[in-house]
Amino acid sequence: MEIHVLASGSDGNCYVIRSGEHTIMLDQGMTYKHLVEQMNVNGIMPEEIECILVTHEHSDHIKGVGTAARKFKCPVMSTLGTYEGMLHHIGKVDYSEIRRDVGFTIGDIEVQPLPTRHDAADPVCYRFSSGDKSAFIATDTGSINMEIRQAINDSDLVILESNYDPQRLRNNPLYPEYLKIRIASEDRGHLSNFQCGDALMGIRPGQRIFLGHLSKKNNDPDLAKDTVSQTSGIRRAALDCLDCNLDDTRALKI
Ligand SMILES: [Zn+2]
Ligand SMILES: [Zn+2]
Repeated sequence: MEIHVLASGSDGNCYVIRSGEHTIMLDQGMTYKHLVEQMNVNGIMPEEIECILVTHEHSDHIKGVGTAARKFKCPVMSTLGTYEGMLHHIGKVDYSEIRRDVGFTIGDIEVQPLPTRHDAADPVCYRFSSGDKSAFIATDTGSINMEIRQAINDSDLVILESNYDPQRLRNNPLYPEYLKIRIASEDRGHLSNFQCGDALMGIRPGQRIFLGHLSKKNNDPDLAKDTVSQTSGIRRAALDCLDCNLDDTRALKI
């Protein structure tokens, strides 16, 4: 299985999951032009995308979903709440409903949605398995529940949100108070570096961990790696942030 990270962070999120003959896109928060550039760099052909899965209706995840789905002639799959929330942004697409907690397959890729706690209508994250390999991508959640913790422990490759440093968020003069409260909220927000580290405390040697969806304004890769390493006990050198060097090909293979 290969995970291509085309974008990760507040400016846009987009991944491609490939296994054997099957290819899925997860979120598409970039302009179409930027998407095509990133697909070219990663050697991904438009015709191989079988569907676009969506986590939730925030613009950094859906900005380019409609255009991409129409160009690639593939369906968009999401919970009904997410679809209703993004419909007026993405325009007319071929839509297929998924249910939180109910797994499904695309070719030989098993997809398991897991509910997240975020400021959106019906947000989920997804775990992908094929054969004996699995990858789990979880961003945009204010807290970690038992199911997400289990998915982290059970996956060969984990991309987990490490969104903000609490002190930087508190001291950021550009953010209004209501926004700081929302970002730090357990029900509606994002994971801090400390929460990310705490969620990774049970991981085993051999699991590959990547930190994603870092805030540009309230975090930086070195700080995120320091805090996550100190909190989780994972060696700092074993942690990588997706938000650095995204001009490079980022095919994560398992
Ligand atoms: Zn986001
Ligand atoms: Zn979001």
